[in-house]
Amino acid sequence: MTTVVATDLDGTVIFSEKAMSHGPVRPADEDLVPVDVDGSRVYAYMTTRVVRQWTGLADAGVVVPATTRSVEQYQRLRLPGQRPAAAVVCNGARLLVDGESDAGWERQVRGRLAERGATYDTVWQEAQRWRERRGFDAVRGVEDFFIYLTVVRREPWLEAFADEAAEWGRINGWRVSLQGRKLYLLPTGLDKAAAVAHAAERLGADRVVAGGDSLLDADMLRAAHAAIRPAHGELHLTGFTSPHCRTTASAGAAAGDEILDWYVAQTGDGRP
Ligand SMILES: [Mg+2]
Repeated sequence: MTTVVATDLDGTVIFSEKAMSHGPVRPADEDLVPVDVDGSRVYAYMTTRVVRQWTGLADAGVVVPATTRSVEQYQRLRLPGQRPAAAVVCNGARLLVDGESDAGWERQVRGRLAERGATYDTVWQEAQRWRERRGFDAVRGVEDFFIYLTVVRREPWLEAFADEAAEWGRINGWRVSLQGRKLYLLPTGLDKAAAVAHAAERLGADRVVAGGDSLLDADMLRAAHAAIRPAHGELHLTGFTSPHCRTTASAGAAAGDEILDWYVAQTGDGRP
């Protein structure tokens, strides 16, 4: 049996300074490797343990990153080891195969999105209204696939508003995910799960194990043969469970270490 590891990145295996604060202890500087650097700013780190385990999995060709990051935000990452042969980016809207976007997959996704829900332009206009009337700092589009709003500082009103936005989304065929300072708005038809299944097929894998921390990972975790989520993040806050999905014992960056150990066990010879 050939197994691939479909893994979310942010909050699952790489951590911003803020995401690390979910754990009881911030790792020491010497145990952290910057993996998302823009100019003089470090946006995210991997622990040295994750780097070691990731490198083994990447070199074995079994990792499929599955992220909501845009192509640009994904490509600026300095992931260790061999470049994954396939990567799911833009929450499943794009499948990068050897670094190039698969045009056939994009056509399929666009066809599916055209069939249902409010259009991107409608949601963009609504998001602009929300920015003007609420405390949002900016509205950003990821190509013309989905939208997110950002705040400068996360304050209590945001969670209540996320519920309101989710209700608006339900009526209009879009869904909402609140992650740190970002409120994501995505068409319901845009999901990592379908793209991961397509990538696994292309790679000739017949078993998928998956990990992730946000509501945008839920279907990917449900669809996988086995899955893991950290004891922090949106899935943890909403009490997500699934029969074959385990939860890490620790939170914060230590959860990332546990998740990588589990991925290695799932792909190794000693797999139960
Ligand atoms: Mg995440």
